[in-house]
Amino acid sequence: MSIPPHVPAQRTAASFGPCVLLKHGEVFLKGRNRDRFVERLHDNLRGALRGVGGSTWIKSSQNVTVLGSDGHVSVETLVERARLVVGFNVIETGVRVPSTLEDVTRAGVAALRDLAAAGSVRDFAVRARRRDKAFPRTSSQVAVHVGARVKEALPGLPVNLKRPGVLLNIEIDRKETYLTWTRVAGLTGLPVTSSGRALVLLSGGYDSPVAAHRAMRRGLAVDFVHFNGAPYTNPSSVYKAYALARELNRYQPPGKLHVIALGKAQRQLAVAGAGRLQVVAQRRLMARTASALAGGLGAEALVTGDSLGQVASQTLANMAAVDEAASLPILRPLVGWDKQEIIDEARRIGTADISVLPDEDCCRLLAPPRVSTRAGLPQLRAVEKRIDFDEVVEALLDHVQVMEPGSDPAPAAARCATPAAATT
Ligand code: ATP
Ligand code: MG
Repeated sequence: MSIPPHVPAQRTAASFGPCVLLKHGEVFLKGRNRDRFVERLHDNLRGALRGVGGSTWIKSSQNVTVLGSDGHVSVETLVERARLVVGFNVIETGVRVPSTLEDVTRAGVAALRDLAAAGSVRDFAVRARRRDKAFPRTSSQVAVHVGARVKEALPGLPVNLKRPGVLLNIEIDRKETYLTWTRVAGLTGLPVTSSGRALVLLSGGYDSPVAAHRAMRRGLAVDFVHFNGAPYTNPSSVYKAYALARELNRYQPPGKLHVIALGKAQRQLAVAGAGRLQVVAQRRLMARTASALAGGLGAEALVTGDSLGQVASQTLANMAAVDEAASLPILRPLVGWDKQEIIDEARRIGTADISVLPDEDCCRLLAPPRVSTRAGLPQLRAVEKRIDFDEVVEALLDHVQVMEPGSDPAPAAARCATPAAATT
């Protein structure tokens, strides 16, 4: 993401300086509840701004949040942090000036002059919008006026109304006006926590972290549970789960990671003759255990990275068998995604580099050479009866290891959020 110079060279005494405009996404549709959603959005933004190394301010305007700092935090840093917050459609940068035609014009001309001096504008257009209808000029009058002054100041710079290299966007509020000319896509969706809490079954692969991220984008705050094959596997998958949770926590108030050693229970299933049902039986055990764990965490759903038909354990019949063992709804945000789409998204959100690392995954432990694609419930129940399923679940819950991966707020804009939109 490159942000062109944004502070007009000629600042007036009354100039208010750089700012970031955050356009609200779906929150905008929320009728009577909108204020509550905007509050969540702002809480999350404040959380994302923690530790930026200076004081910042945010304020609300109609369907827009304006963000700025005391001058000690760069606009680039503000944008990086805002891109981690679910719920903004577009993030624009520019300046804030008093709402007078003179200030607006001066700032517009200065911005284009700076962009031209930096060689980052081939042609331009001006678009204006009045939120304050008392402003003495109409939107199009403002756009025409500022455009004409830019033409005078930079006679060689062509206007291009259809596909401008730089679109100077002017939004006029009662007291102040925002001029912006760079924009990147934000993480659209509903503010994290506005839909409640869920527990993500987090393995070390590509899928479940992406599923967690999609769940967050629908407003869920998430905790994580990871099953490892201890005592029969090394702890590498736990390290990965920890790193993944930490990465994902950048997008939400940090969730906790619960680690459960599944190895002995897996062996019990194998000894009980699970055979080709082994993988689905393990999944049912995970679903039942996670449901019980979720209850104590205030989570109302489980989230998995299943994608229909991706592997034998993810056929419709096997998903139904797993659902039957859970006492909470299982959300599968990736059910219709193909693997390449999932990997591409993992790269964008910053989890791919962790998922690619080798580990000893508990699911490969004792996996049969051929997994049943249609595990029957009566057969599964018969195996579960032999091991006393409920007792096994209780024993697993007695030994949950709780970790607090926290979050690493260090800038990672290049690997987070959706792809940057063009300058216009
Ligand atoms: P992933 O890439 O997320 O590992 P996968 O394609 O390997 O997924 P499966 O191994 O069949 O698919 O797992 C399906 C889902 O079950 C995972 O996305 C995850 O939500 C859950 N799951 C699998 N293994 C574990 C585990 N060890 N701990 C917690 N959840 C798991
Ligand atoms: Mg897996």
